[in-house]
Amino acid sequence: MDIENQNSQMPDILPPRNSSRYCGRYSRANHLQGLVRIFTESSKIAVESKKPETAQARFELAIEVYYQIVALRPDTEIERKTTNAMRTLNDEFPSIVCMNEALGICDKASKIKSVRTQLKYLRKAQEILERGLARQNIGHTNLTSIYAQVVGYVRQAEAIIEKQGKNANQRNTNCGPDLKSDTSPAESVASTQTIPLPSEFKCSCPNCTQHILVPLSLAGTAATCPTCSHEFTIPQPTETKFYSI
Ligand SMILES: [Zn+2]
Repeated sequence: MDIENQNSQMPDILPPRNSSRYCGRYSRANHLQGLVRIFTESSKIAVESKKPETAQARFELAIEVYYQIVALRPDTEIERKTTNAMRTLNDEFPSIVCMNEALGICDKASKIKSVRTQLKYLRKAQEILERGLARQNIGHTNLTSIYAQVVGYVRQAEAIIEKQGKNANQRNTNCGPDLKSDTSPAESVASTQTIPLPSEFKCSCPNCTQHILVPLSLAGTAATCPTCSHEFTIPQPTETKFYSI
């Protein structure tokens, strides 16, 4: 009887060791603290990387190292904490990796000078978020709010392009019919305006829990709460409790 198969029918279960591309790679490692450190670092990168491939690889490394930690039979407190961390990571990873990818694309879009190109990026981000939402994972609240924002940006970009297209058509009519071009009139002017994409995220003051909107670029830097003047470090947008053991 295969225990892993039995387990996989239960909800909230851990991914099997052989689901990791690194399966068995650490089977001889017996330095508990070193393994815990690798587990912690891998989990952190898995939830912070904007590159889905990197995130996935680190997620799988965390799985392998997790099983090796448990195999070393650490004291119950370490085993309990590591298992909780692995479980939370497993539950939230699909949503987080999708959110990070979408945020990374929005960040790129915010630096682009053409609204048409921005729109392409934003639609890509929208598509990624829709796929993530369709998977019904835990961590939906963040996905839903980012999705709503991205859809808003997509509409703004479409409105600008449409408006510029109309203006250009009017100009064309005024100029007469000899204005021939392969590019549509909309395309020739649409690049003059872009939508301002605030790459921001919400965090809350650890002292008074006041919600603060901060630019993505300030993640990890020091800040002073506008409400209570408490000084704290702005977390990463996806920073959660689960990778600190
Ligand atoms: Zn505060």
